[in-house]
Amino acid sequence: MNLFDVYSLYDIEPVKGKGSHVFTADGTDYLDLYGGHAVISIGHAHPVYVKAISEQVSNLGFYSNSVQNALQERLAEKLGKLSGYEDYSLFLCNSGAEANENAFKLASFTTGRAKILAFGKAFHGRTSGAVSATDNPAIRAPFNETANVDFVPLNDSEAAVKALSTKEYAGVIIEGIQGVSGIHEPTPEFLMLLREECKKTGTLLILDEIQSGYGRSGKFFAHQYAGIRPDIITCAKGIANGFPCAAVLISPEIPAKKGMLGTTFGGNHLACAAAIAVLDVMENENLVENAREVGEYLISELRKIPEVKDVRGKGLMIGLEVEGFTGSDLRKKLLFDHHIFTGGAGQYTVRLLPALSLSKEEADRFLTEFKKAVKK
Ligand SMILES: *Cc1c(COP(=O)(O)O)cnc(C)c1O
Repeated sequence: MNLFDVYSLYDIEPVKGKGSHVFTADGTDYLDLYGGHAVISIGHAHPVYVKAISEQVSNLGFYSNSVQNALQERLAEKLGKLSGYEDYSLFLCNSGAEANENAFKLASFTTGRAKILAFGKAFHGRTSGAVSATDNPAIRAPFNETANVDFVPLNDSEAAVKALSTKEYAGVIIEGIQGVSGIHEPTPEFLMLLREECKKTGTLLILDEIQSGYGRSGKFFAHQYAGIRPDIITCAKGIANGFPCAAVLISPEIPAKKGMLGTTFGGNHLACAAAIAVLDVMENENLVENAREVGEYLISELRKIPEVKDVRGKGLMIGLEVEGFTGSDLRKKLLFDHHIFTGGAGQYTVRLLPALSLSKEEADRFLTEFKKAVKK
């Protein structure tokens, strides 16, 4: 059997990881500033994580959502405490797209409305509803084209106010920081305006923090820079350091009804053990602060490099563009000549999404190699 050929692959195979490093079979050490696409939050093979999931799978790896599961309660308590959303409720599922599907469904159940408002260049995942709200026709099949989703440009206050004033929308979904589009931020004023207008028009504000959340921006959630409280927050990627897991955080004003949401795998014992270990490590090692400090350092050092045209982002969610390089050329050069993994976005942007535990020394190793790579 062949693999269905949908991914463009680099000709490289990491077989081992440790912290912010991955290794190929011949022992070559690569600095991982990509984190397997913002997934590796606490570093590869963290001993606390390895112990937690090994012990859990040897006791009980899985049982269904038809019985008590104290691990879900523990995860909810810990996540509430660290995120500042102690009064919210938690629904667990398996991927970012699925978290957004559940957010849309919940907004629709709650308001009785059918439509979702999304923003230009947004990415919300590849399942039906999520991809309908993703502003990229290339990844939407005819089946996903629906009159139930409208788009307005990011940070266009007038267009957003006008759309919401129709009171047609169950929810408006926005990324804390746009990732796939190449690191573009909603302004704090725009987020505050959306918060206001959603309240006025009975629309639920959904923050997609799948990539920008979980400490990556230097706060637990990127929208916390604007001081707003959304009605629904979705999380995935970094939540369990690579074990499939996703979360929907739901405001106390949204009522639950038995059976309205559900999943087979979501919130299983192994996923919860992984997610609890991630939060334990984030707390004990102050990883949110580390992401802020090392991120600020990286951003300010990158801005000093003459070949760098633009640096965007917050914390360890950084997009950069370099004179004379497409994103893909620069990524290849960094990977094969300098042994540094990075991510891409669009034609010109290189994305840095390293583990939140990236040290200043590792950031310096990157900066040294990066300067060599971009030198004219
Ligand atoms: C990755 C991503 C998703 C989709 O998550 P999957 O786990 O791939 O389904 C949704 N929204 C944002 C902002 C993302 O970065």
